[in-house]
Amino acid sequence: MVNRAPFNQCIECDEIITNPICSDCLASQMRVFVKEHDQELATDILGFDIEGETQCISCGKKTGLCPHCFSKDIYEFIQERNPILADEFASRFDFQLREMLIT
Ligand SMILES: [Zn+2]
Ligand SMILES: [Zn+2]
Repeated sequence: MVNRAPFNQCIECDEIITNPICSDCLASQMRVFVKEHDQELATDILGFDIEGETQCISCGKKTGLCPHCFSKDIYEFIQERNPILADEFASRFDFQLREMLIT
């Protein structure tokens, strides 16, 4: 299955991606953070390969998922495995995660 996103748009939420960081770059930042607390969980945090037209500002790879949606997916994943860490994750990787949780 090939996922394709229109120019600068996130395939999941349809928002324009204003702060493009690909899921691989985000996942590696997240792994560093999670590893400090839960080494086993950290190995399961991986980026998704989603094709798009938005270029990552960090590595230059094209992506189609906004940091907010990726963080949300990882947040939900961590919450299932380690709810306490999920709270800390939300305050560290705050791509509108907390706003979303309040509303
Ligand atoms: Zn999105
Ligand atoms: Zn990247």
